[in-house]
Amino acid sequence: MTNGKKDLVANWQTLQRIFIRPESEASRTALVKYMQQILFGLHDFLKENVGITREASLLELSQQFTDSRINKNPKKKLEDVIRGLIEDIAPHAVNVASPYFIGHMTSAIPFFMVHLATITAALNQNPVKLETSKVVSILERQVLAKIHRQIFVLGDPFYKEHVQNPQSTLGNFVEDGTLANLTALWVARNVCLNPKKGFSGVEKEGIAAAYRSHGIERSVVLVSRLAHYSLRKAGGVLGIGNENILPVDVDENNRIDLAGLVRTVDRIRENDNKTKILALVGIAGTTETGTVDPLPEMAQICSENRIHFHVDAAWGGPTLLSGKYRHLLAGIEQADSVTIDGHKQFYLPMGCGMVYFKDPYIMNSVAYHAEYINRPGSVDLGIRSLVGSRAATSLVLGSALDIMGAGGYGLLIDHGIDTARDFASEIQKRPLFELVTAPQLNILTYRIFPPELQKAWQAAGPEKKKALNNRLNRINIRVQRQQREAGKSFVSRTTLKRTREEDKVVFRAVIMNPMTDPDTLREILDEQEKIYQDSFLSDK
Ligand SMILES: *Cc1c(COP(=O)(O)O)cnc(C)c1O
Repeated sequence: MTNGKKDLVANWQTLQRIFIRPESEASRTALVKYMQQILFGLHDFLKENVGITREASLLELSQQFTDSRINKNPKKKLEDVIRGLIEDIAPHAVNVASPYFIGHMTSAIPFFMVHLATITAALNQNPVKLETSKVVSILERQVLAKIHRQIFVLGDPFYKEHVQNPQSTLGNFVEDGTLANLTALWVARNVCLNPKKGFSGVEKEGIAAAYRSHGIERSVVLVSRLAHYSLRKAGGVLGIGNENILPVDVDENNRIDLAGLVRTVDRIRENDNKTKILALVGIAGTTETGTVDPLPEMAQICSENRIHFHVDAAWGGPTLLSGKYRHLLAGIEQADSVTIDGHKQFYLPMGCGMVYFKDPYIMNSVAYHAEYINRPGSVDLGIRSLVGSRAATSLVLGSALDIMGAGGYGLLIDHGIDTARDFASEIQKRPLFELVTAPQLNILTYRIFPPELQKAWQAAGPEKKKALNNRLNRINIRVQRQQREAGKSFVSRTTLKRTREEDKVVFRAVIMNPMTDPDTLREILDEQEKIYQDSFLSDK
C-alpha cells in the first residue's frame, strides 16, 4: 500500500537525507512527532494493558515470522514501523512493567530511562577509546568510582588518587552480569596462574602450559549450588572446565554451608596438591531465592588461604544504597571483585552489567594494547576490558544516580524488601499455601500445600512422602502454568533441589516493581487459590 511512494525507493538522495540533521521547521516537527508516537503510543498501550501478554501460542506467532529474505526495496515508512511495533509487536511481547508481573528480575523502569537511553543513542559515543568518547570516558570513570565507593568504602584519598588515574581501573561496564562474572573470573584466573620463571602467564601460553608450569592438573572455583549458570559458562570459556565450578551445599537458609566449604577447601589444600583454588564466589542475592551468603566468613577463608574472593551481587548490589538494609550485604567490602547488574535493581534498560575490583591495578592482568587503537598509558577504557565497542551505558546510570540519589534507590529497595516480607506473612496466613523460603532480600518462594495433604504428610513414611511430594509438584506446575496462560499475572516457577530432601517445585516471586503492593499480591494469591479449586477440587 505504501509501496511505490517515491520516498520509499532506496536511492542515494533519500539515503543521504536520513543522515542529515533537520534544518527546516517541518523536519523538526517530524522528529518530535515520531518521538511522541513512541512515548505516548507505548504509554497508552501500557495503561490499557495491565495483563502480562495477549493470548496467542508461540507456534501461532512463529508461523507469522518465517520470511528469511531481506526486502530489496524499502517496505515501510518510519511512522508505519513504529505503529506496527506498538500495535502488533508490543501486545505479544511481555508487559514486564505490569505490577502483576512478579516472576523475574525484569520490571518496570522509570520513564526517564527512555529519555536517557535516547540521548545515549543519539550521541553514539564509543567508550572503547578516548577518540570516540572523550569526556564520556572520563564521566564513566566517575560513575565507576561512585559505585566502587558504595561497595568498598575506601575513603577520599583513595578515590582522589584513582578516579581519573589512567593507570587505575576501578571496574568495567559490560553488557550483562554474565560478562561481569566472566571478567571477574578471567582476572582471578590470570592472577592465580601468573607468570613466573620460564612461563609468561596463562593469557599468553594457555591453560595447558599454565598447569604444567604451576605443577597442577586443574583449577577450581567454589560456589554455592545456587550459583547462577553464568559462572559455569565462564568455567567453559576460560578453559577451566565447567565441571570445575564446584557446587557447595547450602544450609537450611539457602546460604552456602560454611562447614562444608571449609571441609572442601581443607581437603584440596591438604591432600590435593594437583588442584588450585582459583576463586571462591559468594552470592549476594541468589537468582532463585534471593539469599545472601555469609560474606564475612567467606572473606575470612579467602584471606587465610589467599584465594580470590568474588561476590556475585548482580541482583542484590543496589541494596547498598538502602540505609535500612545495607547491612544485609556486610562483608562485600572485603571482596576482590564484585558483579552488579544495572538492568536489575538500578532499573536501567537492558544491557548494563558492571564488575568492580578492589585493587585498582589488578586488571593489568588482562590488559591488551592494539597499536592503532589503545596506546599504553592512554585512558582508553578498552585496554582493560573484555568488551570492545559498546554503548555508553554509564551516561544512563550516572544520570539516573543524579535524578534519584542514593535515597531514591534506597526507597525502592526498602519497598521491595518490606513488601516481600508482607507477602510472606500473607502466604503464611493462608491455609492452602506453604512459605518455602522466607525473603532475605525481595525474593521468596512458596507453594500450594493443601491442608489435607499437610495432614497426610505428618503421618507419612519416606515412600509415602515421596509420592506426596510428586503430587504437590504436579499441582504447583499446573497452577503456575494456568495462571501464566490466563495472562493476568505472572509468578515464575523453579525446582529447589536439596541434598536431603525431595526436589520441590515452588512459585518464585521477585518483588521489585514499586507499583506492586500488598493488594496486588493478595489478588495473585486469590487467583492461584481459584485455579487450584477449579482444576483440582471440581474434577474429583
Ligand atoms: C541475573 C544474575 C546473573 C546474570 O546476569 P545477566 O545480566 O542475566 O547476564 C548472574 N548472577 C546473579 C546472582 C544474577 O541474579
